[in-house]
Amino acid sequence: MSTKGYEAVIGLEIHAQLKTNSKMFCSDSTKFDAADNENTSPVSVGMPGTLPVVNKTAIEFSVKTGLALGCEIRRKSVFSRKNYFYPDLPKGYQISQYDEPLCEHGKITFKVDDVEKTVSITRAHMEEDAGKSNHFGEYTLINYNRSGIPLLEIVSGPDMRSAAEAAQYARTVRQVLRYLDVCDGNLEEGSLRCDCNVSVRKVGAEKFGTKVEIKNINSFRFVEKAIDFEIDRQIDAVERGEKILQETRLWDPDKNRTFSMRTKEDAQDYRYFPDPDLLPVILTGEQIEKFRQELPELPLARQQRFMTEHALPLYDAEVLTTERELADYFEETAKISGNSKAASNWIMTELLRELKNAEKSIVDSPIKPAALGKMVALIEKGTISGKMGKTVFQEMWASGQDPEEIVKAKGLVQITDTSAIEKIIDEVIAANPQQTADYRGGRVKLFGFFVGAVMKASKGQANPETVNQLLTKKLQG
Ligand code: ADP
Ligand code: MG
Repeated sequence: MSTKGYEAVIGLEIHAQLKTNSKMFCSDSTKFDAADNENTSPVSVGMPGTLPVVNKTAIEFSVKTGLALGCEIRRKSVFSRKNYFYPDLPKGYQISQYDEPLCEHGKITFKVDDVEKTVSITRAHMEEDAGKSNHFGEYTLINYNRSGIPLLEIVSGPDMRSAAEAAQYARTVRQVLRYLDVCDGNLEEGSLRCDCNVSVRKVGAEKFGTKVEIKNINSFRFVEKAIDFEIDRQIDAVERGEKILQETRLWDPDKNRTFSMRTKEDAQDYRYFPDPDLLPVILTGEQIEKFRQELPELPLARQQRFMTEHALPLYDAEVLTTERELADYFEETAKISGNSKAASNWIMTELLRELKNAEKSIVDSPIKPAALGKMVALIEKGTISGKMGKTVFQEMWASGQDPEEIVKAKGLVQITDTSAIEKIIDEVIAANPQQTADYRGGRVKLFGFFVGAVMKASKGQANPETVNQLLTKKLQG
């Protein structure tokens, strides 16, 4: 991507709140909707003399994420203190990892407009979240519920070249985190936060331009918009002969622009040093191997398997693996239906449309996979036609009833009995001697007329395939 001979360089820092029950260094709950400062203790409000204890599950989740992102896992990683003062950071330092992070040198591959793109993961390190300042005009209140929640910071290489690539990268990381079930990925609630680093340079230039960091963007749509805005702003500035300032900017979704929060001059020296209260995290090869064994099937692998095992086209496989729950739903439906592609069609068209209209997620679908699978099987067996299936589907959506009961209650029966259909065909042929003679004389186009007449006479209940077969035979005379 280039505009006016420039290209953008983008790198993302994604903070993922890990879905542990308790905090990174103490046993406070991590529940999201607790009352203000309910989830606190002397450790998480930074009382002197308290000591941190590492949350084992947070390490497990971090290692698993690192493995899923193709990272090397350090056998010995170290927690450091990142020193700065801010009211939401009562200790005066944040426990983070610095020169010996847990995960390094990974990569992730995804598609943007059908083109494959690989982005390197420089590092993924563990840290603790800060509290939250709520500003009210003249005063500020601080909620420490978030203080000490485990975070994994995933830092990409400066490998992206467009806003679309950056947004897709972020979506893919979120998808992996959700497949691993280590982060709920909720951007609005701040469980996933995305800082975007953006610079521009002349196409062909080797040196990167000065980067600007855009912080606190709470949707992927805004990630894309903010980066696009920032690229244009920087190109215009460079064109005017201005220097790009290294600064932190924020996205204003109402005005559709970024604005400066602070410049490099205000940047702090964090004076990192190893936290003397915490031992290094030591992992054995066996422990790492065990975590690797426990990894679930990841989106790309599952997509591939849907194509080979279920013979789905790429498009279906991509859509159905976007969320793990949707992929599970499909597999369960497919198993019962006896026809994977038919199951996929029903999910991708009818079900996803209804869910979207009702603003429901797949887990809240009123139609459970077993019921949808059964309905598809009824069509497969010829008990009902595809058209009747739509009626059954609507009824299942509205009432959550079993498809077989609906079929019975509504008297939706397809006539598959050949002798019954034969009888109708004989009547139709007898009632239309002229057309029959013409057909036999070579006007084969009249076949459609006969199909229509038979379907009409059966009130739409005759199995179309059987009608076709028997008609062909009978019309030959
Ligand atoms: P800092 O020390 O300022 O935090 P890092 O080297 O840690 O910078 O990089 C932070 C993020 O910024 C990474 O995702 C990286 O890929 C990205 N980045 C680094 N340099 C540039 C640049 N010139 N343009 C765009 N992104 C960059
Ligand atoms: Mg950084």
